[in-house]
Amino acid sequence: MAKYKSLLLPHRWVSAGRVRKCYHSAKHELHKGDSVLEVKVGIGWQGYCRPCGEDMIRAAIEQLNRELSFARESCEVDPGARSHLRGGHDARLDPPRPPRA
Ligand SMILES: [Zn+2]
Repeated sequence: MAKYKSLLLPHRWVSAGRVRKCYHSAKHELHKGDSVLEVKVGIGWQGYCRPCGEDMIRAAIEQLNRELSFARESCEVDPGARSHLRGGHDARLDPPRPPRA
């Protein structure tokens, strides 16, 4: 089976090679050797200080948990929505057939 497409933007932790500013706030100054969370946006990378990076990861986890809850609640409302997980066809999705004359 093919690998799932990631819902996350490409990102990486790197060590700051020079003094730079955090992309979230220019007041957050990064010094050489500090951990920097770099997020790929378009063709470039945006660097965030470690506290901002940790907050972003927490926010992403919360967002994904909400998405998972939403998906599960949607499946409870529409049981047929899970049919693809069983790899089969769910007859409950078929519209009722008119009685034969
Ligand atoms: Zn920051």
